[in-house]
Amino acid sequence: MKKLEIDWTRCDGHGLCGTLLPDDVWLDEWGFPVIRDREITRGEQANARRAVLACPALALRLTRTVKRDS
Ligand code: SF4
Repeated sequence: MKKLEIDWTRCDGHGLCGTLLPDDVWLDEWGFPVIRDREITRGEQANARRAVLACPALALRLTRTVKRDS
């Protein structure tokens, strides 16, 4: 399972990720990204990786998460 995450120590809030991934990232009133908390499906990962590579601050990540039973 993969999810988008932001490294807040790097993000400079220019909002490119919101333009590239409008279904999963929207921008707050200061232009910083808000990530929709959901799994990025296998079919969506190529597009998500393109956005990760385009982030000028190397702040956007596509990370693997471990599914836990509750
Ligand atoms: S593109 Fe990168 S630096 Fe710009 S708002 Fe998105 S995560 Fe932050």
